[in-house]
Amino acid sequence: MIINETEIQQTLAATHRPDTKVVQDILAHARQMQGIGANEVAILANVQDPDLLHELYETARTVKEEIYGKRLVLFAPLYISNLCGNECLYCAFRARNTAIHRRALTQEEIARETRILIDQGHKRVLLVAGESYPQEGFQYVLDSIATVYATRHDHGEIRRVNVNIAPLDIDQFRQLKAAQIGTYQLFQETYHRKTYSNVHVGGRKQDYDWRITAIDRAMQAGIDDVGIGVLFGLADWRFEILALMQHIQHLENTFGVGPHTISVPRLEPASGTELASHPPNPVADDDFRKIIAILRLAVPYTGIILSTRESPAIRAESFALGVSQISAGSRTNPGGYADHEDYDASQFALGDHRPLDEVIRSIAELGYIPSFCTGCYRLGRTGADFMDLAKPGDIKMHCEPNALSTYQEYLNDYATPETRAAGEKLIDNVIAGMHPQAARRAQTLVDQVRSGGHDIYC
Ligand code: SAM
Ligand code: SF4
Repeated sequence: MIINETEIQQTLAATHRPDTKVVQDILAHARQMQGIGANEVAILANVQDPDLLHELYETARTVKEEIYGKRLVLFAPLYISNLCGNECLYCAFRARNTAIHRRALTQEEIARETRILIDQGHKRVLLVAGESYPQEGFQYVLDSIATVYATRHDHGEIRRVNVNIAPLDIDQFRQLKAAQIGTYQLFQETYHRKTYSNVHVGGRKQDYDWRITAIDRAMQAGIDDVGIGVLFGLADWRFEILALMQHIQHLENTFGVGPHTISVPRLEPASGTELASHPPNPVADDDFRKIIAILRLAVPYTGIILSTRESPAIRAESFALGVSQISAGSRTNPGGYADHEDYDASQFALGDHRPLDEVIRSIAELGYIPSFCTGCYRLGRTGADFMDLAKPGDIKMHCEPNALSTYQEYLNDYATPETRAAGEKLIDNVIAGMHPQAARRAQTLVDQVRSGGHDIYC
């Protein structure tokens, strides 16, 4: 059993009103950056006192910066199809929803979408699809990944394709690995069994166990770079983060490595679904900040991903608290980058509609370094290797220099003059403030890009 609900409920009940001293001891423990246990997570989840909350946020901020520095990795989702055989009551792609236009992109259309993303400056995409494929079945997904990797345009190409698709069997996962995906991402949506069965009322996704064991099958097939997540708003968020901890513990115990990323989507309104507009357990902004801060302390070396579902204001706050990857300039309808008007095919409403250039500029204004780095994955630093590198904080020696060189590449090739000027100033300032060894490395990479180099990383 991966999730023990009784244990979670007992832990939550036992940690109801935490004592100040206890909370401060946990925060001191968290500052050691070795993670914190389920009991400690439950105690932090129950903190209400504004001063203690402030301390929690400050601790998360310190841990985030110590491990990740100031970089923020950027990606774009690429929706290839909204065909789906499931009935997830919160999703516009659910089978019985007649309010949206159904579409599976052809390989030519996927190449066209990819070219648009390349021309915006993206290097990483997250390929997304509903759980039903055109005639060629699962091969459609494999072909689509190949199409994205094969597409080149002007200055660039997509260097990493992550995927968010329905659970597969081991053999299919092997094929996915052979297609050279980056991360396989799958959200359990809710770890709470009863809630899960209330909101998944048709199709294969009704099977909770098939879904929760999917990450195990991916690992067994050799995919050591996996992402998990919760769709917040379905069940009590305190329950969900403790369940996430159990899932992570299970993966660490079984495979010696936890997830590479955790995603924290919140339910957004979606056409043809009542549930999405009226979440059974809505997560307020205050609680959402808490979720991010607690996860940062609980699993300090795991990336936290935030999507364009959130508003620019929440996104900005969340960077400081622990988010390390964000999507930008997104469309959630297949073909959405080329066909701007086709919103009736979208999966859910977006909270941030700004184009990539604007997002990049605002990230830089907040003092963060936008990163398009794909270095670890391409140098084979994944799974346990990545964790070994990340754990002593050494990732800063790679991540920050690579962030700066890929940011400079973006500025050279795609930025407006205004964004470029602000960006180059930021790069110089960041290098000036870095540890001398990392600064030398970063300066070398950035200089190579400034003199016309592409795809420079360490
Ligand atoms: N069909 C596959 C699946 O369900 O796992 C993968 C693609 S699905 C489009 C990706 C994710 O979108 C889901 O895992 C779910 O968490 C999220 N999602 C669905 N409806 C949403 C909504 N109304 N608001 C925010 N996220 C939503
Ligand atoms: Fe289909 Fe995934 Fe949407 Fe469920 S969440 S209806 S499986 S696309």
